[in-house]
Amino acid sequence: MAVKFPKAHDKFKEYLRGGNHRITPERFDVLDGALEYKGHFGADDLYVKMKSNGFNVSRATIYNTLELLAQCELLAKRHFGDNKTHYESSFNRKNHDHLVCTNCGKIQEFSDDGIQEIVDKVCNELGYTSTGYSFTIFGSCNDSSTCSSAK
Ligand SMILES: [Zn+2]
Ligand SMILES: [Zn+2]
Repeated sequence: MAVKFPKAHDKFKEYLRGGNHRITPERFDVLDGALEYKGHFGADDLYVKMKSNGFNVSRATIYNTLELLAQCELLAKRHFGDNKTHYESSFNRKNHDHLVCTNCGKIQEFSDDGIQEIVDKVCNELGYTSTGYSFTIFGSCNDSSTCSSAK
């Protein structure tokens, strides 16, 4: 069967090898499942989806593989204020930030170059080298069909 994301597979394989992690087919199933997932997901969301698609992977494998994928930057880890770790593919994707509706849970993506400029400016002034940042706006949306506070 053809590999769905050959470049991502190569990168992950190299990462696993370099860190002396075991290279198992399950880990690459998790990689494919994560890259195919539309939008943001938690480890349990992916577990349920893969189970229903007939994959035989354990919850533990999903948890630790997602962690490895985040470390090798194929996935981005996000925190949206609900004490849950969310993941999303960062493979072939432009960097972006999020607006979270604290009422209905809607998450909207946006990107604005001004944010990266602030990161660069602050790092420059304080003598840091940036390895990433997290920027999330919380508020309530005005989607009256899903959001109870909307007028
Ligand atoms: Zn809302
Ligand atoms: Zn996102």
